[in-house]
Amino acid sequence: MDKTCAVVADLIPLYLDGACSGESRALVEEHTARCPACRKLLADMGDGPAEPAAEHVLRQTARRFGRQAALRAAGAAAIVLYWLVYLWQEALADVGNYRWFPYSFHETYTLGYLLVPLLTLIWLATLLARSIRRRAWRKNGAMLAVLAVLLAAQGGYLWNQANLVHVTSWSQVVAVPDEYHIVIEGGEGQVTLATTPLVANLVQTDGTIYGFSYDSRRDSPDEGRLTFVYGIAE
Ligand SMILES: [Zn+2]
Repeated sequence: MDKTCAVVADLIPLYLDGACSGESRALVEEHTARCPACRKLLADMGDGPAEPAAEHVLRQTARRFGRQAALRAAGAAAIVLYWLVYLWQEALADVGNYRWFPYSFHETYTLGYLLVPLLTLIWLATLLARSIRRRAWRKNGAMLAVLAVLLAAQGGYLWNQANLVHVTSWSQVVAVPDEYHIVIEGGEGQVTLATTPLVANLVQTDGTIYGFSYDSRRDSPDEGRLTFVYGIAE
């Protein structure tokens, strides 16, 4: 043991308690990195692994970052997964199909419709505030971008849905311009509805009255997407 070893041995208890100055801390870390005897002393007293303290800190940090990155990836994936399942069960519920997703599931799951975007917003705001406070842009930049994209996509979807109106009407088909569209007589003029060749080929333009359900946008009520049609028995 040379002189430094003796000093470091005295400092180690303080170092482990986190009670020594920055200079002492640096001395302990620098010395234990190259002196096996003191490294062993530090490991024994700290009950930690026999590796240089700086390396130990690095390793712990890497582990924490790895766990954090995994949590962030899982969170972002959960948001995407929520919407995939939402759109899927919604498409089935639109046509009254509750075979894969029971009605109770549909009712409960739909609650996330506003909750998930709200949680995304809170997450983004929290991470943004922390990034500003700790100037951790490099560390959080990618996640901030991912959250911003997720929030924008959800906001766009909600905005689009808010402009959508569900219309039910009993009308006759005025024209069938092509296999993918039919024109019906709406309450305020004619409405062009997007549909499938199956429906376009089936409906008659002879004055028969049908029941129609369709989605239309508030700003263009003369267009829509047909969701359901049924013939009225004479
Ligand atoms: Zn030493």
